Amino acid sequence: MTRLLGRFVREESPSFDKIAVDRFGRMVAAEWKRRGAGVTLLRQRERGDHIRVEWPLRKNRARGQILVLGHLDTVFGRASTRAPFRVSRGRAWGPGTFDMKGGLVIALFAVDALVAAGILPEKRIVFLWTSDEEIGSQTSRAVIEREARHSDAVLVLEPALGPQGRVKTGRKGVGEIEVIVTGRAAHAGLNPEDGVNAVEEISLQIARVTRWNDPRRGITVNAGVIEGGTRTNVIPDHARALIDVRASRPEDMRALERKFRAIRPILKGAILEVRGGFNRPPMERKTSVALYKKARALSEEMGISLGEAFVGGGSDGNFTAALGVPTLDGLGAIGEGAHSSRENVVVRALPERAALVAGLLAAL
Ligand SMILES: [Zn+2]
Repeated sequence: MTRLLGRFVREESPSFDKIAVDRFGRMVAAEWKRRGAGVTLLRQRERGDHIRVEWPLRKNRARGQILVLGHLDTVFGRASTRAPFRVSRGRAWGPGTFDMKGGLVIALFAVDALVAAGILPEKRIVFLWTSDEEIGSQTSRAVIEREARHSDAVLVLEPALGPQGRVKTGRKGVGEIEVIVTGRAAHAGLNPEDGVNAVEEISLQIARVTRWNDPRRGITVNAGVIEGGTRTNVIPDHARALIDVRASRPEDMRALERKFRAIRPILKGAILEVRGGFNRPPMERKTSVALYKKARALSEEMGISLGEAFVGGGSDGNFTAALGVPTLDGLGAIGEGAHSSRENVVVRALPERAALVAGLLAAL
């Protein structure tokens, strides 16, 4: 598993680099073809191609479908570290080891384990490896939802949480809102009274919307990017802010969107435009809990206790859960440092996770 992970990590796949993602995708597709799976490339013009894998291939109709989700892309640029992959202290290090090439390796070895044990799942298993999860899944969302609609369960091989490898039974909904202010330019010394300061307006708006934070309810509003103005002696006529919004409940998500749509200028003469909104609805525990209990029982048989967690980050599991399809997330690698230069996975846990995924595929 470590050797395959090394090959996967060295073939870097930044979300925005179609050529690189496609090259890595072909490597992943080849592994599946070697296992006799049906592999279809879902071609994309701008982003990397998505890969749909169907296994086992059989002539008679399967009774139902399980969808396994993962992504090929990483947040890292190319050559972001000098040694892209190394193994030391029981961990495999490198960009994308944890999020989530470890998960892609786990899926392959889960299938190998089932073949070795002579167990063919009763259901059709569709593995969907997408190319743009880290940048919002714009080109993959429709494919994911289409497959999810005729699936009985969705297993997401995103990283597990913490050293115990907890799975994710709830995720916040996530969105991005852009607030754009148009003011009126003027000389800061000669005729300031003719100006409308867009930077001041955006500051006032940020102060207002960040009061909507309600961490206990799971609502967060974070102004992460702000820009505007040109020179200190000019009253700026343009400013904008990018705001990350998250909510644990669908009704809070909708309420927050409504509040953003309703904001009005504070300074006289300022013009406001609000764009964007939630792109991933919350994943609620009720769609995960039955699958979690099954996974926990399987883990107990292996002598491992499997915990659950609610997390603030979104994934493609948010889309499938929002359709009401039972979804269990965080079944991938155990490790730490996602999206950082310290990203790593615990080598010893890789076969354990493969066994758990194999067990789920056989039992569902
Ligand atoms: Zn991920």
